[in-house]
Amino acid sequence: MIELEPAAEAVENPVEQFLRMDRIPHIWCPGCGIGTTVNCFARALLDCGVDLNKVAVVSGIGCSGRVAGYVKLDSFHTTHGRAIPFATGLKLANPSLNVVVYSGDGDLSAIGGNHLIHAARRNIDLKVICVNNFIYAMTGGQSGPTTPAPATTSTSPYGAFEPAFNLPHLVDAAGAVYVARWTAFHVRQLTRSMTEIFNKKGFCFIEVLSPCPTLFERRNKLGEGLDTMKYYKEKSKIRNGAPTSEVALGFRDEIIVGKFVDRERPDYADLMRERLSLELGNAYVEAPACVCD
Ligand code: SF4
Repeated sequence: MIELEPAAEAVENPVEQFLRMDRIPHIWCPGCGIGTTVNCFARALLDCGVDLNKVAVVSGIGCSGRVAGYVKLDSFHTTHGRAIPFATGLKLANPSLNVVVYSGDGDLSAIGGNHLIHAARRNIDLKVICVNNFIYAMTGGQSGPTTPAPATTSTSPYGAFEPAFNLPHLVDAAGAVYVARWTAFHVRQLTRSMTEIFNKKGFCFIEVLSPCPTLFERRNKLGEGLDTMKYYKEKSKIRNGAPTSEVALGFRDEIIVGKFVDRERPDYADLMRERLSLELGNAYVEAPACVCD
């Protein structure tokens, strides 16, 4: 008679503690890379041991903007393009918070593009995770500032022709203190970068390339999400410290990934404090800590 092994005890997925499981299943399509980035984010929270009561996540509009709704943290799903100003207000009101902006390339670099460059210039202490799938996904796959020519999108049926933003170069030039790019394939490196920015003060920016099989890949006949992961694996080259001027993305070209910028400079709050204490001398009194501390 065959003896059956006792049933294995259910093992809880370690990332579940960071998710609002009551909201699962999520809305993301099969093969989409956004969920993979959230998995990395949850593991980074686990690795860096940050106090979860001191983490707030702010998202804008779009498929990536849904992240705020799925994480079991203080989170805010804001209006289109306004995640960064909302996050700036949170940080200034309660400087002890770790404020993470989690949104897509359309939300952050198109309608929110002005906020992106000025937050980097001011060196506001924010952690920005930008999921780049090269289009406005949720609204129907229109081309945006990151669409590489000559990709086909719903608004460029004959192929995009506008030059695309090189996001790492943009935020580097504007003054970000930490800039990295990974893909949804580079889960370990992405998790490490996400961990590092929790120990970094100032404007940090991580771009994550992510498949959108439903819109970008389908329109461009690039296969399923898994085919894009194979493309990421085969075409990515890790160049930590690469000048950001050399990491522009082309359509199906080589992808330069890595940590490009890691530097120090005073953040917005430090500069403001220094200015006010110089100007006001003894009359300058630091605001009391937030009542939520
Ligand atoms: S439309 Fe694209 S980006 Fe949005 S959930 Fe589906 S695969 Fe992901």
